Amino acid sequence: MKIDPIELTKKLITFRSITPEDDGAIKYIASILKKSGFHCQILEYSNCRVKNLYAEYANGVPNLCFAGHVDVVHPGKLENWVSDPFKPEVRNGMLYGRGAADMKSGVAAFITAIVNSISNINGSITALITSAEESASEYGTQAILEWMNKRNKKIDYCIVCEPTSDEKLGDAIKIGRRGSITFKLICYGKQGHVAYPELADNAIYKLIDILNKIKSMTLDSGNKYFQPSHCEITTIDVGNSGNNVIPDLATAYFNIRYNNLHTSDSLYDLVNTICSNVTQDYKLLIHEDRKLFLSTLDRNTDIMLDAISKVTNVDAVFSTNGGTSDAAFIKDFCSVIEFGLINKTIHQVDECVLVDDIYKLTNIYEEFIKNYFYSDINKVDLISSIPNDPLLI
Ligand SMILES: [Zn+2]
Repeated sequence: MKIDPIELTKKLITFRSITPEDDGAIKYIASILKKSGFHCQILEYSNCRVKNLYAEYANGVPNLCFAGHVDVVHPGKLENWVSDPFKPEVRNGMLYGRGAADMKSGVAAFITAIVNSISNINGSITALITSAEESASEYGTQAILEWMNKRNKKIDYCIVCEPTSDEKLGDAIKIGRRGSITFKLICYGKQGHVAYPELADNAIYKLIDILNKIKSMTLDSGNKYFQPSHCEITTIDVGNSGNNVIPDLATAYFNIRYNNLHTSDSLYDLVNTICSNVTQDYKLLIHEDRKLFLSTLDRNTDIMLDAISKVTNVDAVFSTNGGTSDAAFIKDFCSVIEFGLINKTIHQVDECVLVDDIYKLTNIYEEFIKNYFYSDINKVDLISSIPNDPLLI
């Protein structure tokens, strides 16, 4: 079966898969993989309209996994786009459409690569595709992994095909991501008349005092693998409709992107101590918590470096910057890296990728697959050449 990754990307863009909908994309991909001998299981979560695909070509060990998502963020105002975001269009060698970069082209490239390679590999290949990466992740990759865990499905190595390149294809491989923890802080006071502050207790002042202290703390200065951790306050809500009333309640949300010098527990303790030094009338909750990951540099990262260099002539660097991704969940199953197209236009109006880069990415994945399944004798040589690094986990 012959697949053109450009045509497949274009087809995937036509599905209006605004997160967490898949709009038929999951079934379409399953039909392609089935024809190539993959066993496909669609995992549906009808309460939130999420569809996930678990596809497996079982042929012993090792089991190489590719992961991605077909959901996209909302295109925003359609009149701001030069062409319809769900009608793929090529202009000057660039393919335009919502999801062109994040990440329908990445999905198309790895589907093409695994279908093209399947008859020549000595092992198994698994594909995990979700419609809930941009939202509702508990029903997306997390849910697929729980489903796999219950059935004792194992994978040995995973490539998440998110767009990781910065300026040109192949310049960056993500070997980790910072963790992300969002706190909800509620401060309490006593309601009263603005003319009688001595009879009231304004909750806003406590909240602002705490937020100032949190914002001004230096969490760390980063290290070899990660940029410094930092905090952003995202919203402050009082909900006070009376301008002559001192409010008795104020709420804020803030997010900390943290590196491997912290854990979510250590950050909770730190923030909690700051709060309790200001007031006792507060509640601190963890609203959302995504753990960081940092992969070990090993034979497989070498294989990816070589594959990239062979196809693009670019020497990739290892990076951990940017937001979170599903790799943060997969890391609990096996070692994982992320590699894909240029991320410059993701989530933007007129999102686009170079058509030629989609072909190149497909070739890189094919080259990786070929060498990943190469003989064990070479594996030993490669592993022994990698120095131990105590900072890597
Ligand atoms: Zn993405």
